Amino acid sequence: MPFWMENEFHPCFSTTKSPMAKTIIVSNRLPISLRHRNGKFEFKPSAGGLATGLDSIYKSGENIWIGWPGNTVDDAEQRAEIIIELHALKMAPVFLSKEDVEQFYEGFSNETLWPAFHYFTQYMIYNPDHWDAYVRVNQKFCEAIVKKADPDDTIWIHDYQLMLLPQMLREILPEATIAFFQHIPFPSYEIIRMIPWRKEILEGVCGADLIGFHTYDDMRHFLSAVGRITGMSGQSGYIQAENRIINVDSFPMGIDYHKFAKQAKSRKTQNIVKDFRQKVGDQKLLLTIDRLDYSKGIPQRIHVFDQLLQQHKELRGKVSMIMVVVPSRDRVQSYKELKEEIDLLVGRINSEYSTLDWVPVHYFYRSFPFEELSAFYSMSDVALVTPLRDGMNLVCKEFVASKTNQTGVLILSEMAGASKELQDAILVNPNDRQGVVDAIYEGLSMKESEQKLRIKAMQESLKKYDVFQWVKVFMDRVEHVKEKQAELTSKDVDAKVLNEIQSSFKKATNPIFFLDYDGTLTGFTANPQDAVPDAELKKLVKDLSSKAQVVIISGRDKDTLGKWFKGQNIDMIAEHGVWVHRKGQKTDWELYAEIDDTWKDDIRNVMEYYVLRTPGAFIEEKHHSLVWHYRKVESGLGDLRMRELFSHLKYMARGHNLQVLEGNMVLEIKRPDINKGRAATSLMKGHEFDFVLAIGDDWTDEDTFKAMPKNAYSIRVGYAYTQANYNIKSFKQVRQLLHKLTQ
Ligand code: UDP
Repeated sequence: MPFWMENEFHPCFSTTKSPMAKTIIVSNRLPISLRHRNGKFEFKPSAGGLATGLDSIYKSGENIWIGWPGNTVDDAEQRAEIIIELHALKMAPVFLSKEDVEQFYEGFSNETLWPAFHYFTQYMIYNPDHWDAYVRVNQKFCEAIVKKADPDDTIWIHDYQLMLLPQMLREILPEATIAFFQHIPFPSYEIIRMIPWRKEILEGVCGADLIGFHTYDDMRHFLSAVGRITGMSGQSGYIQAENRIINVDSFPMGIDYHKFAKQAKSRKTQNIVKDFRQKVGDQKLLLTIDRLDYSKGIPQRIHVFDQLLQQHKELRGKVSMIMVVVPSRDRVQSYKELKEEIDLLVGRINSEYSTLDWVPVHYFYRSFPFEELSAFYSMSDVALVTPLRDGMNLVCKEFVASKTNQTGVLILSEMAGASKELQDAILVNPNDRQGVVDAIYEGLSMKESEQKLRIKAMQESLKKYDVFQWVKVFMDRVEHVKEKQAELTSKDVDAKVLNEIQSSFKKATNPIFFLDYDGTLTGFTANPQDAVPDAELKKLVKDLSSKAQVVIISGRDKDTLGKWFKGQNIDMIAEHGVWVHRKGQKTDWELYAEIDDTWKDDIRNVMEYYVLRTPGAFIEEKHHSLVWHYRKVESGLGDLRMRELFSHLKYMARGHNLQVLEGNMVLEIKRPDINKGRAATSLMKGHEFDFVLAIGDDWTDEDTFKAMPKNAYSIRVGYAYTQANYNIKSFKQVRQLLHKLTQ
């Protein structure tokens, strides 16, 4: 079971946000465009999807949106004027210099991260100056936010230009609620590892409490990259950071459905449709609308249309493509080249097929006002949305919402995030040219009844998961994560608890400590035999044992423990309670439990089969158990094999009355009646202890915690649900605690 679900008991915790806490939205660009005219600035609010969705948030109360206004303004007076104007619109600017824009925005964001995240590695540039600018500008954003933020505000950061910001803010505002949403895809680990600054980027994002992506694939790629690159472990969408959990989830962004549906029905749009229709005649219309970007697959689409006209000559004169390309990033070289390529291809296809009364491609390199865009959506028969890669793609959703009479066909690329939701579209692989040609032909000949069925189903889903629902679900989830964190840290060994333990220990005349070894007194190593106690630990145990009875209670074999703690005046329990070594006794280890190991041969055979199939895995044999280790196995493969072996062993365990348990990179199979709790209880039998402290870090220690007397202090290392009274961050804090007690 995942670590945050280990206990059925979920007390109702609430985060302690002050009623004055506000929400700060942060994005690279403010939802506004600035124009300098006749010595004054004009402010035109943006009507983009994100701005609409977040409208209700940043415009209410003390909330605010922070970002770059989109112009470089160096003059101090002009800056002051912009600050005042934006303030009235509930916005605050981060001013970027010309150099910032070139190196941070056009450089690192759009020439390194954008191509990497869209799998266009051939366009990636690795420029350390661009990276420096990326760090510098994220820092600028951080400073601007810190000026406005209070310690318990919620800060919601948007997109790939600001990936370092969550961690920068976390360092200054450790209590803040920080959320991050990435609007573009998150690629496979194989791509992320190519970026020289990958670790800093991932650690930057992990400063957030909630990290959102459009699709499940994006989130699983992110989790895998974080696990492999930062070493932080994660399970089912939760990352275990040093002192908190981070939730990673998918939140497919919707559109303002009713805005598009209403506009399509409006008289204004319908008049435009009539006018356009008169001009193009009664041909079938294919619609494509994109920003100029190589990820959109625009040239490929022109080739597809060419192939369609070659293979289906009967369609010539009967079908036209309306192709809207919105200018974008045209200062970046690869975009300039793309524009030239598109111009050339359109010229070629039109010159080859045009007749006096028919043009194959109506090509527009500009953006359109909303009513005209709506008219295009409304009048087109088929929308051809075939990006090679797209985080979500809103155009396809807007097309579906605009089909108020429910006729029309959507052809959608599998590589767009939206394809995960819009399963009733004709889904295509944009690299399969013939497949797309066939899809268009199918779309053009689709019966109206089927069109209606498909569009209706997609409309239902888009209506339900619109952009407002997206914002609500995301904000609810942010709160949920904070509650989870509060729940897990509510039992923290803080200064107050520490004082209590200290004074209780001082008063005690007969104290006892049960200390687990691995993960509790020391960290984990790739090779278990390397986790030898260091000088500091040896001294700590020695000092402690001069003041109290110390029991090292471990799953380790007796020989290792005996060797490592030789000469110490302590008790040792080895192999989860099979063996005990009493302090001061001359005799060596005594057997604490009867061992029946007739089951081992069967189980060992199975485990060996999994060792053979899994390079790096090995078996450890103990008296009462067999352990399958996978710490050194390739990340991912180890987990996979462990799951397989787990179900295999579970099945076999029933016949032998055995117990299979998952540990830290190990799978152990053992007799259920032998455990640390039983051993601890026997050791305490007949003695009166007036101070008992048990510390451990995994499920085997839960048996110890359960067996402890009521007045005992029990502490679990790491933030997991536990039977222990308290949690502590890591083995380093355990050492500090014990050190305090020895003073
Ligand atoms: N759009 C626009 N004016 C136009 C053409 C398109 O405002 O002339 C909008 C369109 O309505 C959509 C957005 O641009 O909301 C494109 O979003 P999408 O997610 O499809 O692609 P992106 O540009 O974000 O990669």
